[in-house]
Amino acid sequence: MTEDDQNQLKDLVGATNGTPAGVTTGDQWLSRYSHSLMGVFGTPQRVLVRGAGAVVWDADGREYLDLLGGIAVNALGHAHPFVTSVIASQLSTLGHVSNFFTSPTQIALAEKLLELVGAPTGSKVFFANSGTEANEAAFKLARSHGKKSGAHRTRILALEGAFHGRTMGALALTAKQAYREPFEPMPAGVEHLPFNDVAALRAAVDETVAAVILEPIQGEAGVRPLSDEYLRAARQVTRDAGALLILDEVQTGVGRTGTWFAGIDADAGSVADLPDAVTLAKGLGGGFPIGALMTIGQDVSGLLSAGQHGSTFGGNPVATAAALATLHVIESQHVLQNVVAVGEHLARGLAAVPGVVEVRAHGLLIGFDLTAPVAPDLVRRALDAGFILNAPGPATIRLAPPLILTTSQADSFLSALPALLADALQAHESTQGDPS
Ligand SMILES: *Cc1c(COP(=O)(O)O)cnc(C)c1O
Repeated sequence: MTEDDQNQLKDLVGATNGTPAGVTTGDQWLSRYSHSLMGVFGTPQRVLVRGAGAVVWDADGREYLDLLGGIAVNALGHAHPFVTSVIASQLSTLGHVSNFFTSPTQIALAEKLLELVGAPTGSKVFFANSGTEANEAAFKLARSHGKKSGAHRTRILALEGAFHGRTMGALALTAKQAYREPFEPMPAGVEHLPFNDVAALRAAVDETVAAVILEPIQGEAGVRPLSDEYLRAARQVTRDAGALLILDEVQTGVGRTGTWFAGIDADAGSVADLPDAVTLAKGLGGGFPIGALMTIGQDVSGLLSAGQHGSTFGGNPVATAAALATLHVIESQHVLQNVVAVGEHLARGLAAVPGVVEVRAHGLLIGFDLTAPVAPDLVRRALDAGFILNAPGPATIRLAPPLILTTSQADSFLSALPALLADALQAHESTQGDPS
């Protein structure tokens, strides 16, 4: 953007109507927010105005190391020069066309994703705009499979702790009662099985099951991985019973864990080991909204026929260009190697911090548990100290930083954490009365 454009945008948002200095403060923005934005997100922690790499700045000029990456979205950090320029170039050439038409970037992205999965000929991609939409498409895929392969194949199995999104179909797959109850009745047929319990899975899957949907690692539940044994068993029992195996890699996919996908080994696995469908979103567009459902093999790919599903924005030229650019940078800049190296470095460092009891590190998707339920307080203290973290549970912290995080950025957090956590634990103890 030219300086002129930037000033015009400032006028559009009313950024210069604030203080005499012509700067709107974070508090002023939040006051406007509270009068105009629906309260579903509570009060935002900060008003962010700018980012570069793994660093963001707020409206009051403070700097933060972004260790959450927009919840595993900003794969290449903020304002990545190549991704930004590809998006701008595509938008100034052709931005949107509707799905009565296609575009080169849409086709090339579908081909690239199928190549990365190691999908056999006949495999296909449907583009959506988010993770929940990708899972809605997967839900309809499961229903369609159930209808076509027998009148009694009506059950869809998900796991306790699962998060698959917030629209009604995806919400039915999501386990958390607090998210579901206010909006019941849910679409019928979904059951939640105990997490990582192979025996329960074997007992539940029979020819009445249309599909099993799994996150290889449950991100929202605090970074809880399924065992390899469980994933193998899931592939085997669904195949034996004629049910689909759907992997939700919305959070774990696109390099987050140091491999392209957490639940698919495209090199080692034979085609028979692949899931029947995979959903992606979050990191795929490097910050630009896009989701995808991939169907593996010809039979599954034919389940949704012309007219049975759709999307106005899905697969538009800009979103697919953004994703192509993101995948290209991850591949050509050896980003996966960085994910592995910095992830291991962070994991080792975290494990040595007093007050950290368990570290579950999968590349740069990292959960760690604390000795006391101080995670929300630690998040606040870290924010004041210039680090963006997330607390998916009362005693659990999650990190999902940009995949380009450097070792020295990781170190800056590792050296600040012990004091921040000690303070949080101390504050907690003093509210617990005599620690004795
Ligand atoms: C975030 C997430 C979703 C939902 O994605 P949205 O883009 O927020 O709709 C679905 N599944 C998993 C595993 C996720 O982490």
